[in-house]
Amino acid sequence: MKSKIKTLNELLTSKQISALELTNKYIENINVLNPKLNAFITRTNEIAIKTANKVDKKIASGESISLLSGIPMCIKDNISTKNIKTTCASKILGDYSPIYDAFAVESLYDEDAVILGKANLDEFGMGSTCENSYYGATLNPFDIGKVAGGSSGGVASAVSSNMSVFGLGTDTGGSIRQPASFCGCVGLKPTYGSVSRFGAIAYCSSFDQIGPITSSVYDAAIVLDAISKKDKRDSTSIGLDYLSTKTINNDIKGKKIGIPSAFFNGLTQNIDSKIKTALKEFEEMGATIVEINLDILESVLPVYYILACAEASSNLARYDGIRYGHRANVYSDIDELITKTRDEGFGSEVKKRIMLGNYVLSSGYYDAYYKKAQILRNKIINEFDKAFENVDAIITPTVASTAFKSGDLTKSSVDMYLTDIYTVPINIASLPAISIPCGYDDDNMPIGMQIIGNRFCENTILNLAYKYEDKNSDKIYKEPSFWRE
Ligand code: GLN
Repeated sequence: MKSKIKTLNELLTSKQISALELTNKYIENINVLNPKLNAFITRTNEIAIKTANKVDKKIASGESISLLSGIPMCIKDNISTKNIKTTCASKILGDYSPIYDAFAVESLYDEDAVILGKANLDEFGMGSTCENSYYGATLNPFDIGKVAGGSSGGVASAVSSNMSVFGLGTDTGGSIRQPASFCGCVGLKPTYGSVSRFGAIAYCSSFDQIGPITSSVYDAAIVLDAISKKDKRDSTSIGLDYLSTKTINNDIKGKKIGIPSAFFNGLTQNIDSKIKTALKEFEEMGATIVEINLDILESVLPVYYILACAEASSNLARYDGIRYGHRANVYSDIDELITKTRDEGFGSEVKKRIMLGNYVLSSGYYDAYYKKAQILRNKIINEFDKAFENVDAIITPTVASTAFKSGDLTKSSVDMYLTDIYTVPINIASLPAISIPCGYDDDNMPIGMQIIGNRFCENTILNLAYKYEDKNSDKIYKEPSFWRE
């Protein structure tokens, strides 16, 4: 698949299309498709048109433009945008507009990317289906009876259905990679520290990362290059000191790819065979496939859900109805103001996690849960470190299934948590990973393959993903069945 961003950039710079025409085309796509897919919470047509006009002026005056200039895109609605509503798909932030932009958003404004709007998500990023949204569920363009995945389901659905060329998501335990996998997109979760979290509304601060969802591997590299600079407003920001687009087409001969067999148990036949076929392709290109032992699956979900809920309970304490967001109408004192506001403002999944987080942090249970989870987190990190002494990358399925039917997982939180088993270890160990389509199941639903790299080695996984995509693009990219009528 040729880079969509590069193709559009060529059309813009050769004046075959103006930035305004391109933007209007995407606005029209959203007008037609969004009522059915519900990928957008807020639309920003005026800002989009203003940026498009600015880009057209630059082109007309002969000024050179960057690859992202004039490219229509969307932003997950838990990433702060100055003077644009940023709801986190929650009632509690229903009319909240930040007074500053996230670092990643600033970076995209610097490039004159065209912001079409804010995309739907599971409330505060908590979920795996994009159904836990105060603004209704986002649907999957490959089958509108199925979920888009979550929590960045709005971005994935928008990119998959061509309502957006690319989008920014956040990934705390799989929220970029899992919806990308369900909607047939590419999703990149950067190393913890590669992209500044300044302006990313915190869910679990030690796992959260911002990253791109795109329709090709090259596009993911272009966006990553634009947003991965060091930022002093996030003390964990390190940035990347290279451009991934420079090395993306390097020969992958001699690269060693590790396969943890435990990650391949209990997959449906289709997913197993599609990934095994992909591994053969890597071998044909000169990479070596080796079995590795990654003995972590038993502990990853408890560790993730204990730590994520603990941090969430603390991060979400700020929504008290006093400083910003929703405030209960009727209350008799300050305690009632806070409790009523939180009761009315948060959805049930968020409340569940706040309670779980408070429980594992409470004095009698701190050692038994929170501390133990931190010890196990270190063990998981060590397991990955050992594996990366011998391999350049690790390949697993992104999810053990393709997109499930809407409503299937809303009944049981535990079933929903189980779907995250292959994605959460990456956040626990602060690693980068990319999900790339590798085929389709019998129902024509996309299957995602996850390529995991060592810390700050985004260039390695983008290179592997690009080479695989280059050889297989006609097999792995299909237009969603749900298309413009
Ligand atoms: N599904 C996971 C959760 O509910 C991951 C979400 C995310 O990455 N934001 O926490």
